[in-house]
Amino acid sequence: MEHRLNCLDRTDFEAPAPRRVLRNLALLDPIAGRLDSGYEVLTEGQTILEVSKGGIRAGDAEVVDLRGRTLMPGLIDLHQHILGETLPMYPRMLPSLLTARASRVMLGMLSRGFTTVRDAGGADYGHKRAVELDMFTGPRLFVCGRVISQTGGHGDSRSPADMREPPMCCVQFPGVGRIADGVPEVRKAVRDEIRMGADQIKLMAGGGIASQSDPIDSLQYSTEELDALVDEARRANTYVMAHVYTAQGVQRCVAAGVRTIEHGNLIDEETARMMARAGTYLVPTLTAYQAIKEDGPNLGFSEISMQKVDRILEAGARSLELAAAAGVKIGFGTDVPRCPERQSDEFLIRAQVLPAAEIIRSATVTAAEILRHEGKLGVIRPGAYADMIVVNGNPLEDLRLLAGQGENMPLIMAKGRVLKNALD
Ligand code: ZN
Ligand code: ZN
Repeated sequence: MEHRLNCLDRTDFEAPAPRRVLRNLALLDPIAGRLDSGYEVLTEGQTILEVSKGGIRAGDAEVVDLRGRTLMPGLIDLHQHILGETLPMYPRMLPSLLTARASRVMLGMLSRGFTTVRDAGGADYGHKRAVELDMFTGPRLFVCGRVISQTGGHGDSRSPADMREPPMCCVQFPGVGRIADGVPEVRKAVRDEIRMGADQIKLMAGGGIASQSDPIDSLQYSTEELDALVDEARRANTYVMAHVYTAQGVQRCVAAGVRTIEHGNLIDEETARMMARAGTYLVPTLTAYQAIKEDGPNLGFSEISMQKVDRILEAGARSLELAAAAGVKIGFGTDVPRCPERQSDEFLIRAQVLPAAEIIRSATVTAAEILRHEGKLGVIRPGAYADMIVVNGNPLEDLRLLAGQGENMPLIMAKGRVLKNALD
């Protein structure tokens, strides 16, 4: 990837790498689900150098006294869209304006403690690179580019009255979707998104709420197409994430080798067991349906969408229970591009059915595993990125501390830099 945009790969965008010692803190270990006091953490530049029980020699490093507060890894949201307004049915906006707006959306995510975000469609390598080069202050991004969808699938944003053919209909506008039908076209679409810098491939494997022409139960893409999509992604050393709700839809994705199931609200026991056996991850996004249910029309959802949401919302909590009981690894997603301030409500909704430690793991270590950044993200240990948040209190006992807009996070560090400091 590093050959891209070479003209902009200049060190004058990079701030100097400070050394910092964080002292007097309780370290939250997401793997053990435990708080341990008495630790100190030394960071240098973007990296955590040392984690030990006291005795780190500060030298010329800046000392930050956390006065007994909790230090934990920065949160990871595996399903958001920083370009919210590109979703179907929204008034079209120029890409420049969308990107400007996205910079604000990203700041909001950071202030809620999300130091890494997997964008599930819309954001591209340019957005990712702008964050890496500090042109935008935002979470570390893992991008898909555009979502690959069949004609009439969840990523086809045309209205039933729109008779323009792809690619003119969906490619020229800043849409989240790109249409590809048949094995040669889907192979080409994956290759093209990878050419443009996608970290992973996103596809629509079933109906959705926002789209108008496809019922939730529709099974999108043939088996041959699904196999081809996964094959192309794998050969490019990446993986596929699939939007899909129903048990049958999920089973088809698991059989094809899709790595993460996005939403998955309507899975049953058999499907959960199949996912566990195959090592397929589930990334639920429950706050999205709560938001649509409570505020759908204001968020631009149509009558058709509102009719679809009840069934999905009711099944959401049950899908979490089924997946957890079967031993499916669960990641943390939110999918609230139109109301990003509801992002952290996901913690509270999940807390109704799962223990806090498990939910915190889903937004840290398990999320890092999904992103194939184990040891770098989602943990506080030597060699990991210095993406960390400080919490007033113990989130393992009270997940409300991670909710809201970051009110209970007095310090937020990303890439070793302090982006928020309200310790005093
Ligand atoms: Zn989706
Ligand atoms: Zn989404």
